[in-house]
Amino acid sequence: MIEIIPILSDSNCYLLKKNSGFILFDTGFKAKRKLIENSLENAGVNQNNLNLIILSHGDIDHADNALYFKEKYKSNIAMNKNDEGMVINGDMSYNRKNKPDKIKLFFKLIIVLSKISGKKEQFDFFTPDIFLESGYSLKEYGFDATIIETPGHSAGSISIITDDGLLLCGDLLYNITGKPECLMIDNYLQYNESIHKLQKMSILKVYPGHGKPFGFNREIIK
Ligand SMILES: [Zn+2]
Repeated sequence: MIEIIPILSDSNCYLLKKNSGFILFDTGFKAKRKLIENSLENAGVNQNNLNLIILSHGDIDHADNALYFKEKYKSNIAMNKNDEGMVINGDMSYNRKNKPDKIKLFFKLIIVLSKISGKKEQFDFFTPDIFLESGYSLKEYGFDATIIETPGHSAGSISIITDDGLLLCGDLLYNITGKPECLMIDNYLQYNESIHKLQKMSILKVYPGHGKPFGFNREIIK
């Protein structure tokens, strides 16, 4: 059984825990580094047991501390190649449409908050060590879990599904408006395909990129 330790903040990070060590899913804002760092230390993360850092996508609110934690915990950073340009040069419009297919007012609020949280900060650019695609097994890192490509919010968005039916979905679904939904869909076609993919899986619980974890129900994400 994989234990998931949520580190809930402006944007969420999750620690996957087993006897064999940890995987960190998303790394949060630099402004929240101390909070995240404390949570990692309380959970027992050290230089020898952080098996991998995985990014759900390349947006700064999920990838800001990636380089810092990679160096601190001697771990590799893994993500999907389609978001690579976002983290190599900090271009959040990389591989995205000029105008997203859907953008909710709430999302615009998040962008404003991001600008406040990230003021006068420079994103620490990096080159990912490992690229992840659908079907990539996390067994070699000690976890019975698999990567699923779930593009829509960005072209390189990925999720983790554990063999126990726990889904970590990044920004495919937010849970801050009272119902799970994506607040910024770059590409509707990709998003719909991603949702259909999930509806065919047996999922018990969803751990979103923003907001609290929630129970999965095929109806709620139609
Ligand atoms: Zn986000």
